[in-house]
Amino acid sequence: MAKRFQVECSACSFEREIEGRVTAGRVAHDHRRETGHDVVAVELPPRQAVE
Ligand SMILES: [Zn+2]
Repeated sequence: MAKRFQVECSACSFEREIEGRVTAGRVAHDHRRETGHDVVAVELPPRQAVE
């Protein structure tokens, strides 16, 4: 199962929940390239089964 990442920008309100490390890295890289902002990707815990 793909890991989920919270991609957050420290300079604006950009925030995305992304599935997969490669995709998260690409989203972060694109935002950084477009804006010059500093972006971090935080790994999220696995989704819990909804009860
Ligand atoms: Zn930004």
